Amino acid sequence: MKKDIRSYSKDDLRDYFVAQGQPAFRGNQVFEWLWKKNAHAFDTMTNLSKELRLFLEEHFTINHIAVDKMQRSSDGTIKNAIKLHDGLIVESVMIPADNRTTACVSSQVGCAMGCTFCATARLKKQRNLNPDEIYDQVASISKESELLYGHKLTNIVFMGMGEPLLNYENVMKAIDKITSEEGLAMSPRRITLSTVGLPKMIKRMADEQVKFNLAVSLHSAIDEVRSAMMPVNISNNLDELMESLRYWHQKTGNRITFEYVVWKNINDKPKDIKALVEYCKKVPAKVNLIEYNPIDDGEFEQASPIVIDQYVSELEKNGIIVNIRRSRGKDIDAACGQLANKG
Ligand code: SAH
Repeated sequence: MKKDIRSYSKDDLRDYFVAQGQPAFRGNQVFEWLWKKNAHAFDTMTNLSKELRLFLEEHFTINHIAVDKMQRSSDGTIKNAIKLHDGLIVESVMIPADNRTTACVSSQVGCAMGCTFCATARLKKQRNLNPDEIYDQVASISKESELLYGHKLTNIVFMGMGEPLLNYENVMKAIDKITSEEGLAMSPRRITLSTVGLPKMIKRMADEQVKFNLAVSLHSAIDEVRSAMMPVNISNNLDELMESLRYWHQKTGNRITFEYVVWKNINDKPKDIKALVEYCKKVPAKVNLIEYNPIDDGEFEQASPIVIDQYVSELEKNGIIVNIRRSRGKDIDAACGQLANKG
């Protein structure tokens, strides 16, 4: 079987060409084609000789994602169904706003975390995405943005399908490429990784001094309530999570974003608000209250605007920054938690 050339680092490619009796800089040239120029075929690598292009063609493949289907929402949000080299499908979303374009990308096919309110959980986990499959989602949205809006991508959120911290190595490799000069040269400050909250992995990222932002899907600051919705909380409770977040803040100096949906009869009581306020006092944090995006069976319902207002005023009274995040792309099932390959 031919090898995927994009699994080679730049050094690997340099070594490979030297072993073939070629100058090492061929490795740099090919690397630039594969990443910065996002080439899909060896034939397009015009600064290589015809023979070398044919030789590479014989020995390697360039595994590439292909946009299988594109849907545009009435609010301008675009959802891409992406076919991977083995036929599996993931989704990525492009969200335009003013002069910004945000890419929401997937890190796994399906998800193993089993959050009861999330459509992706119902697909179970099928496999991890490779670094190049994550990178390609971003690169293709960046191209789309240039085409449609005349500017590159400005922000990236790892809020698509999957739990990024359970595909740690590949997500970090993809972020390295996205932020490197040889890739898209994006600032890590414009990247947000969203996680269910895995304390061990959060500490590991802190130790590695990563520069991107961290968002944690909290949804409740009461253990029983959170465990009922997010099974991950059963073995990683709120105290353990907080310990890792304090460690993160200590090491990186950065504030944490909590994502939080308020549901009727689940977390809409004064005790829920109080618990969130107390939790937020333990570490520098801000809260994004996100709108609930219904997934089929109507088991969950967004709380009333009055309750949302109570959350906002209690948080603000205690000096905690809070934003209300409106959903985008709901009409095409492109909003948070709605990605489920429904087409
Ligand atoms: N696994 C990661 C990233 C994917 S989910 C995580 O859990 O953070 C991205 C965000 O959408 C998370 O905050 C998640 O809790 C939220 N979400 C999931 N289902 C939702 C739904 N139906 N409505 C609104 N938000 C949802």
